[in-house]
Amino acid sequence: MDFKKLIAERHEYAQKWKERTGGKVLGWFEPYFPEEIAYAAGVLPVRIIAQHEPDALSDKWIYGACYPVKDMTNQFLLGRMDYIDGLVNVEGCQWIFNAYEVITNNKPDMFKHYLFLPDYTESKTSKDVLKSELLVFKTKLEEWTGNKITDAALDNAIDIYNKNRTLLRRICELRRADNPVILGSEYMDMLLANQVMDKAQMNGILEKFIEELESREPGKDMIRLMLIGSETWDSNLEKLIESLGGNVVIDELDNGTSYFWDNIFPQKDRMMAVGLRYLGRPRQPIKESNWRRRPAHIAALAEDYHIDGAIIAKQIYCHPHGTDNYEVWKLLRERNIPYHYFERDMFVPNDETTLRVEAFLNTVRAGITRLAGWHNTVEI
Ligand code: SF4
Repeated sequence: MDFKKLIAERHEYAQKWKERTGGKVLGWFEPYFPEEIAYAAGVLPVRIIAQHEPDALSDKWIYGACYPVKDMTNQFLLGRMDYIDGLVNVEGCQWIFNAYEVITNNKPDMFKHYLFLPDYTESKTSKDVLKSELLVFKTKLEEWTGNKITDAALDNAIDIYNKNRTLLRRICELRRADNPVILGSEYMDMLLANQVMDKAQMNGILEKFIEELESREPGKDMIRLMLIGSETWDSNLEKLIESLGGNVVIDELDNGTSYFWDNIFPQKDRMMAVGLRYLGRPRQPIKESNWRRRPAHIAALAEDYHIDGAIIAKQIYCHPHGTDNYEVWKLLRERNIPYHYFERDMFVPNDETTLRVEAFLNTVRAGITRLAGWHNTVEI
């Protein structure tokens, strides 16, 4: 499967989808967006993938934002995504809120909606607050599209999205093998393609991909790593790590496993069912407000995927991860899990990052008895 091609051709894909179905395309930024509701309205939800090109525009509007937000804003202002008919911002990162405001102010014909998803996800009133927010969103979508969102349409969308998450989880489970049949870079490309495609179509692609994966020979011995940090828009870091003998076998990224880890458990009250899933999913730091859940989740992933070390990559100017990192560092130290922390922007500077990751892997190698004991291919 050429997932990179699917990502590269995402604009053409969405435009053709519109021509074929006559439907509208709705862009989202953060994986807290309840895609199922938009899908039930006959809309194609697509993640806005940040892509860098020379930028003389975004600083005028949002000086000092993280680079992906600047790049997303620039892409819109340059007209690269004029096929997108609407944008939704879900309560979360303030830089993204700024991008949402700048883009929709510059493109006043777009449908825009701010969806409040409580930051105190575990508070007593959050589920009812979110349910009412989802009902408002549903009504807004019905007015915009002219399509009634029926229970049957919602059930169908929930089924398709649950199936999608289950397929992604199945592929993720294959990474628990000692010698996974899939590398972290291919996995990330698959996830990114999944976020810009019609999920019904993507499910068919994933089923075929699973068949292919299950017929592959086991991969070679590599240093097993976990990737933590700001959400990502490409697989360049994973690729660089692989060139040095490491493999990202699991992540705790908002656009990675956190995007699909939990299914919706259906109930008669559909909006409550959808809301509970989004309140309960693995947390982005901005939702880590009252009680800490990220450390326990990261620790469980680290154990289940038998990691040898972790890479924490934070986008420069990413305040949610910047302020939450201390709890991740603390956890990794307590567990004696070696880690390397660094800041990046949309690019992963090759020489500098290679030097750092290589040095980190060299410190990890010495302590890996698994590799020292039975590997043939990784030099220690
Ligand atoms: S990288 Fe950080 S600051 Fe930038 S949009 Fe994501 S959460 Fe916000």
